[in-house]
Amino acid sequence: MSRSDGLPASIDIREVGPRDGLQPEAPISVEDRLRLIAALVDAGARSVEVTAFVSPKAVPAMAGAAEVVRGLGAPGDVTWWALVPNVRGAELAVDAGIRHLTVTVSASPTYSQRNVGMSTEESMAQAAVIAGMAPAADIVISCAFGSPYEGEISVDEVAGLAARCRDAGATVTLADTTGMATPRRVSAVVAATGPDVGLHLHDTRGTALVNAYAAMELGVRRFDTAVGGLGGSPFAAGAGGNLATEDLVHLCDDLDVTTGIDLTRLLEASTLTASLIGRPVPSRLATAGPRGRLAGG
Ligand code: ZN
Repeated sequence: MSRSDGLPASIDIREVGPRDGLQPEAPISVEDRLRLIAALVDAGARSVEVTAFVSPKAVPAMAGAAEVVRGLGAPGDVTWWALVPNVRGAELAVDAGIRHLTVTVSASPTYSQRNVGMSTEESMAQAAVIAGMAPAADIVISCAFGSPYEGEISVDEVAGLAARCRDAGATVTLADTTGMATPRRVSAVVAATGPDVGLHLHDTRGTALVNAYAAMELGVRRFDTAVGGLGGSPFAAGAGGNLATEDLVHLCDDLDVTTGIDLTRLLEASTLTASLIGRPVPSRLATAGPRGRLAGG
């Protein structure tokens, strides 16, 4: 349901902190990762990317993925997502009890070759197979708003990939992997794909929140965010992380856009995150605190 100001009445946030946020960090125990997930669910998160089924040699922070999943308990009304890089990872995730898979395809040919050693075409074909392996899959199109290698990626290319994801039975999320999106670019891409997409925004150049606002005005209702704004290089805190969950919830609270997440409890989860990684998190709200709202609006 949209409103007279063009904003959606509510949005769905997929919390990716336990996966995307912690992935570049020094490894944290399975028990502590489960504590963080529980704190996020207590705050109202109803969609959480809990881990990635990747080689622990390549990504030590995601070791013990199956143990994380086993420790989650019954999902209730929460959707647990796991990222998988290939068919083997998807098999492991499904065996562990995951029913919602995320898999990435890069719209940037060079990024694809360098990161997964496959062309975009080969990667898309593999993603379509993976999408058939679980009851639900979301294909994340990385570099959807630009690539550090090719510069701007053709809007038609992104829309074509989105159509193929849907043909494979998956939902689509557009990722701004290296923080190149602007409201102009979001508007152009969403015009081509339609608003039934998720957005996965990074704040590398300080545009994540304004991009989210622009997207909501276009009718986009699904967003990936990470508690604390983690996810950038561990050596450059604040420089490239995911859009912080608390920053988006704070904005939405002020706009009366329902997220289902309680900001006070979310900030407690953000504080827990900082204690687990051993340094302050980069989110603006964790640093400054909420602005509050004057009586009478
Ligand atoms: Zn991310």
